[in-house]
Amino acid sequence: MCHLHGSGLSFSGGAFGRRTLLAGAGGVLATAALPSVAAAVPRVLSRTWAIVGATVFDGIRSVPDATVLIRGDRVVLVGRRGDVPLSRDIDVVDGRGRFVIPGLVETHHHLGGDTVDVRAANLSRMLGFGYTTVFDPFGSLADFATLKAYAAAPDTPVPRYLGTGPLLGSPGGWGDFGLTATKVVTGPEHAFEVVDQLAEAGVDAIKAANDDWFWGRLTLGTMPVDTQAAIVAAARRHGLRVFFHAPAKRLAAQALEAGAAGLLHGVLDEPVDREFLRLLGRTGASYVSTTIIFEVFGDLVGVVGRQQAYDRQGLVPAATYDALRGPGAIAEVESGVDPAVMRSFLPMLRANVEPVSRSGANIAFGSDGGSYGEAVGVASQFELVLNGLAGLSPRQVIGGATLGAARMLGRHDLGCLTPGKLADLVILSADPLADLTNLHFVDQVVRGGRLFSATDLRAARS
Ligand SMILES: [Zn+2]
Repeated sequence: MCHLHGSGLSFSGGAFGRRTLLAGAGGVLATAALPSVAAAVPRVLSRTWAIVGATVFDGIRSVPDATVLIRGDRVVLVGRRGDVPLSRDIDVVDGRGRFVIPGLVETHHHLGGDTVDVRAANLSRMLGFGYTTVFDPFGSLADFATLKAYAAAPDTPVPRYLGTGPLLGSPGGWGDFGLTATKVVTGPEHAFEVVDQLAEAGVDAIKAANDDWFWGRLTLGTMPVDTQAAIVAAARRHGLRVFFHAPAKRLAAQALEAGAAGLLHGVLDEPVDREFLRLLGRTGASYVSTTIIFEVFGDLVGVVGRQQAYDRQGLVPAATYDALRGPGAIAEVESGVDPAVMRSFLPMLRANVEPVSRSGANIAFGSDGGSYGEAVGVASQFELVLNGLAGLSPRQVIGGATLGAARMLGRHDLGCLTPGKLADLVILSADPLADLTNLHFVDQVVRGGRLFSATDLRAARS
């Protein structure tokens, strides 16, 4: 939930107090990290180069003993080694015993942190966990511009950064209770004005909220339907998609009817029935469950422990996990959410994932990360594991985290390793299709054709 994190957030009523330990893997609130991260230089390879001998899942199919041929920032082709002749003068990266998947795409992450430097460091951390694109649906326009510029440098070990800037809410609702990076949209006419401003600032999409906060301790007003529709109409004039925070089925359905391109949280309160699934199908909207953030609200200590158990290489310091589940963190979460109430919603949230997937609707994954109880990077991968536990196969999960996410964001140049796509990929030392928890074993990452070594990734995570 965006109100729990992101830059400059705090509840006017003090419901969640001020964030503390949201700095991520390092657990530090100190600024910096930009210079040290930028110092890691990707391995310089010939303009055309190849990864040879790996098992490749290109987003659609698996190819054993494959060659991935890359030129500049693009994939030239993926094929069986014997079918792809290579000239002698190109560099070859040995992929034997390795597993290649498209770069992971986080479709709901706020990067945490009090300053934009901390947020930038968290963005870099995400590359160290195999994320080559991060979509951040909340933040000030100043942070958006800074992070966008930071991520645009081709040699910096950092994912692509897509964002919405401020959240759009309504008077008496999400727009109007003290979040700094929100815009209050007073009605349809105002919606056009606000969306025009955001488009002018270069945002990648629009985020709006239609939520009475039934799952938390506050009661908020929802967004009038005509305002929702006006936001969508205004965004379409700029070619922008609108994604909604709307975890109640009734309010999510309203947003879909208004033209939402996706739901940034799963449906918490009711089963996704045939009518709702038909609506998802008819609109082509995407579904992002953000299971982990609700699991955290239900059992912060337990879910932090599960992330630490998942983190078998200890990529995040133990002290960070301890801080994430410390008394201060518990008090802050419980000031906004009653864990027992949240736990009552969790079976529904988990059960809704599989029918959405089976209906053919587009699924993507996001952790709502940079937030309470989430270790940056680990939490995003653990969200994928949780969706596996909710009934999706590893292939469905990795497909959603790559191709599904690219479709959601309208980035048809990302998400799979077919000819002409941007060369964003992850090289793993264990097979994630055999077991999703093997996503933990990221060895190297390629973003835009640049190879970031294990050493570069370690630096990015630190
Ligand atoms: Zn959020």
